[in-house]
Amino acid sequence: MAEHIENIVYLIAASLFIYGLKQLGSPRTAPQGNFVASVGMLLAIIAVLVGLDASRSNLILIFAALVVGSAIGMIVAHRVKMTGMPQMVALFNGLGGAASALVASSDLARYTDAPGLVTTIPIVLSTLIGTLTFTGSILAFGKLQELVTGRPVTYPGQKVINALLLLGAVVLSVLVVRDPLAMPPFVALTIVAAVLGVTSVLPIGGADMPVVISLLNSYSGLAACATGFVLQNNALIISGSLVGASGIILTKIMCKAMNRSLANVLFGAFGQAQGGPASVGAEDGVQKTYRSASPDEAAMVLDTATLVVVVPGYGMAVAQAQHQVRELDKSLQSRGVEVLYGIHPVAGRMPGHMNVLLAEADVPYEQLVEMESINPQFPRADVVIVIGANDVTNPAARSDTSSPIYGMPILDVDRARSVMILKRSMNPGFAGIDNDLFYKENAMMIFGDAKDTVTKLVSSLKDL
Ligand code: NDP
Repeated sequence: MAEHIENIVYLIAASLFIYGLKQLGSPRTAPQGNFVASVGMLLAIIAVLVGLDASRSNLILIFAALVVGSAIGMIVAHRVKMTGMPQMVALFNGLGGAASALVASSDLARYTDAPGLVTTIPIVLSTLIGTLTFTGSILAFGKLQELVTGRPVTYPGQKVINALLLLGAVVLSVLVVRDPLAMPPFVALTIVAAVLGVTSVLPIGGADMPVVISLLNSYSGLAACATGFVLQNNALIISGSLVGASGIILTKIMCKAMNRSLANVLFGAFGQAQGGPASVGAEDGVQKTYRSASPDEAAMVLDTATLVVVVPGYGMAVAQAQHQVRELDKSLQSRGVEVLYGIHPVAGRMPGHMNVLLAEADVPYEQLVEMESINPQFPRADVVIVIGANDVTNPAARSDTSSPIYGMPILDVDRARSVMILKRSMNPGFAGIDNDLFYKENAMMIFGDAKDTVTKLVSSLKDL
């Protein structure tokens, strides 16, 4: 009977997860979706705790872990800056993978006789996927946190070595399934999985990190799902599957947004051969020229506009300029100017980054226009204000077949009458490549921190 009730609670929890996920699909309902899914998780945890066999469980240790883990989670979630969110997600994925691997592998210790395939196969899968998710995610965290180089690291024979490691992992998995209680193959499998996690993330860099994080998120879900089979816990099986599926869907969406295949992301060592700031502005030894303008000059151009499109990017997040951008938007609208926002799916450092920031500044959703819909509108825009965006506006993606971002859909801001680019220097963006947009005749650079520049623009407009 108790088991029936436990399963009913799991079913309710799973329904809340699915409903919560659905609500996460729109910025308007996302906070509620987050809350609904958290309630589902709380129910699942309570069901597990109530169902515990007190004589076989160390309750003090379990509660201590719950308190310590919850406290760390709350502190980190409160402290993390919007710009550090991808790193935090990477860390969560990694810890999720490690937890799944540890729980599944510790289950082996319970057996004196070899368990059946139904138990052994999930243990092997969870150990393999969970361990490589852990080490891969820690490396992704290190790359995004700039603790290690963010550029792709390649070496001769890299693909062969990775293929051999994968083959080794498969062979060792078979050995463990055949004799689950023999320690050496199990330890070797864990080591090979850990190395594989590192070696498969090493060659990935630059703009591809979000895709990797999303893929690792999917892996962590698969590991949790496998552990659910080990523990015969329905809630873990369902929630793991949901994470696995949503992670892979997001990965696919992101690959599509960059016009790249997953294989190209994983094995293409994207951005490796790019020059840094030193090469900026120079092409075949010819120095390219750009025009810079002051906020006062820019305000005069804005004053005569009828349609202004704001294109935010990572720099707006760094400068935390969203509130000032909203002020500028209101100031322009009060002068009868139509203001829209062009949102690229991978602007910033995480999916939905710009939507979250602009929602925080109370920009109405109706003004946020997705890439496919805003692109046809650029030719009728008098001014585009690019605020800390770079890669997502680079016209080389359209025309330069030698560019590493060739084929990536971009915001066609260069097709507007006038383009104002707000950034601090001529330095490149995340992909590390120069931006042809800056040298176009209709472009003007307005150098400075985005928040300062937008504040100056607002006051210059007032003075007109
Ligand atoms: P980019 O990284 O291409 O460019 C950001 C620009 O912002 C920089 O060129 C920088 O120039 C400028 N900037 C930084 N700080 C400030 C500041 N305080 N004030 C003004 N400008 C500033 O950003 P995009 O949003 O255009 O493109 C996102 C890139 O990141 C893409 O390549 C994408 O693939 C990748 N990516 C996306 C993720 C996602 O899920 N959205 C996650 C991870 C990577 P300067 O230094 O001169 O100021």
